[in-house]
Amino acid sequence: MGSLRHECGVFGVVGDADAARITYLGLHALQHRGQEGAGIVARQGGVLRELKGLGLVHEVFDEPAIRSLPGDAAIGHVRYSTAGGNTLANVQPFLVQWREGQLAVCHNGTLTNAGLLRDELEAKGAIFGRSSDTEVILHLVAASDQKTLINRLVDALGRVEGAWCVLALAGDKLVAARDPWGFRPLVLGRRGDAWIVASESCAIEFVQGTVVREVEPGEMLILDEDGVTALRPFPRKPRRACIFEHVYFARPDTTLFGREVYPSRVRMGQVLAREYPARADVVIGVPDSGTPAALGYAEESGIPYGIGLLRSHYVGRTFIEPTQRIRDFGVRLKLQPNKSVVSGKRVVVVDDSIVRGTTSQKIVRMLRQAGAVEVHLRISSPPMTGPCHYGIDTPDREDLLAHRFDLPRIRAFLDADSVAYLSIEQLREAVHEEGSRTCDACFTGNYPIQPAQRGGDGQLTLF
Ligand code: SF4
Repeated sequence: MGSLRHECGVFGVVGDADAARITYLGLHALQHRGQEGAGIVARQGGVLRELKGLGLVHEVFDEPAIRSLPGDAAIGHVRYSTAGGNTLANVQPFLVQWREGQLAVCHNGTLTNAGLLRDELEAKGAIFGRSSDTEVILHLVAASDQKTLINRLVDALGRVEGAWCVLALAGDKLVAARDPWGFRPLVLGRRGDAWIVASESCAIEFVQGTVVREVEPGEMLILDEDGVTALRPFPRKPRRACIFEHVYFARPDTTLFGREVYPSRVRMGQVLAREYPARADVVIGVPDSGTPAALGYAEESGIPYGIGLLRSHYVGRTFIEPTQRIRDFGVRLKLQPNKSVVSGKRVVVVDDSIVRGTTSQKIVRMLRQAGAVEVHLRISSPPMTGPCHYGIDTPDREDLLAHRFDLPRIRAFLDADSVAYLSIEQLREAVHEEGSRTCDACFTGNYPIQPAQRGGDGQLTLF
């Protein structure tokens, strides 16, 4: 895995006297979805309080911070800056005071028409203080002529396009809504008498809750002391769950869109071994997300599995770099080759994806320096040829290795003895998904929604 980054994670709870603490724990379980900032808004007696910061969940919150957020309902967010810069102002949830009182909103995904909506709102006098898509949702709620908060939210979310899982907290209600295409996951759970919504099932299980069901694409749930009310206020669309969540984004112990992630990843490796065998002495994975597929490859091929790359989990944001230049130091900070496993061996390396190719190139070089005599790369997803417009931070198309080069040139660029990717059909087979239910646009170019773009001369352009 190269420079592809997760999007965001959301967590909300209603009906638990320690709502902020449960949310803190839930966000910790979703940390893999965003590591640049975290925030929680909690409600007590109709009053919303917030605490947010840059960094990991445990860096942002300590015991006094959690105590400063009393109440029986809370929403929280971990983020990467897919839209908007990495500043404290962009850390969610956003808590605002408007004519109807307080409202907190957080969101996972990317609005493909955020620029157009922002232009339209600014033309009517709206002032934006942040560069995040979520602020667009807040302004649309405020500008709606509907009478109730629920109807305002329906009105606002009916106008946004793209990928969104939105949590909103106001008055005595927590509202959870998922876009009609269902790009990003959102699940409903129970913990005692409390209701939980979270980006992934692993977060519900981490707080010792039980998963009830997926929030359906296009569904809006209203959670309050009366329980859960489900609405279907948005026009139905074809389901387009992100297939790359299965490959890389989701935690392996999660159940995603009704499918368990870990066995899917093992099957990806098994299919790779069947379709793209290699004469080798050892199979290794690029940790962490490449490991289950490497196990599957080893199991299917009969080649022993070894821990040939070690990941350091202790790299903070302020690591001091060596003064003398060390080749590939950036990658070495995270991954170290294990000489005793790879030296003198023909090595199969299983990774989940190749983005720009620079990380894979460095991994091959490190393994050769550690004594590997052959390096065969096996990738548990198809060649990535296009960017994601639905909540994943991908580089421009021109920077994607598989857009620049065909397979022989990719192999030469990486200096590997062989390179093979799963095809999109093989990936679908491994995750037991039909093409008609998934988004695979960054691999196939079949974009379900084209981003709406602003014209350069003040004209608005819709593609
Ligand atoms: S474009 Fe790729 S990463 Fe983005 S939603 Fe579709 S499959 Fe997922």
